[in-house]
Amino acid sequence: MTAAAADPPLPFWKAKPLERMTRTEWESLCDGCGRCCLHKLRDEDTDEVAHTNVACRLLTIETCRCSDYENRRAWVPDCVKLTPGRLKRIDWLPPTCAYRVLAEGRDLAWWHPLVSGDPETVHRAGVSVRGKAVRERDAGPFEHHIVQWPGQVPRRAATPPNTRQGSSTR
Ligand code: SF4
Ligand code: SF4
Repeated sequence: MTAAAADPPLPFWKAKPLERMTRTEWESLCDGCGRCCLHKLRDEDTDEVAHTNVACRLLTIETCRCSDYENRRAWVPDCVKLTPGRLKRIDWLPPTCAYRVLAEGRDLAWWHPLVSGDPETVHRAGVSVRGKAVRERDAGPFEHHIVQWPGQVPRRAATPPNTRQGSSTR
């Protein structure tokens, strides 16, 4: 008789709630999509949020990363620091954002770097802003840049590549 193999330990994002994560674990949840770093417009009358494809001035649009993350609030005072408490009040995080996903009781998708082990999958899945964002200094009026996609899940991201039927382009 052989002993049954023990189940592998759960990854930290399944094993503990957001409130109990270490700083390193919390930061590693960010998939590097850059979607939250796009400007949003809020309607004063309806309180509704419109997404734009205009990147914050500190976002490097090729890498989708903040160019001065540690000091960002010195340059962009209204950059919102995500915390478990704030997640409950923020209404503009994209549906793909790992913080929102876990706060809503969903699981990380195949393309999340923590799942895939590859930081490029967030780009290959069409989730990141790579190739879709415009620089703030080039944009002109933000009202001319209202787009829907930051609030949507790309079709490519919904299905892992090895389970797709036929070809798929977005
Ligand atoms: S939307 Fe969420 S996962 Fe994407 S860059 Fe922002 S914090 Fe990170
Ligand atoms: S300051 Fe950095 S983290 Fe904050 S919105 Fe701008 S690019 Fe994103």
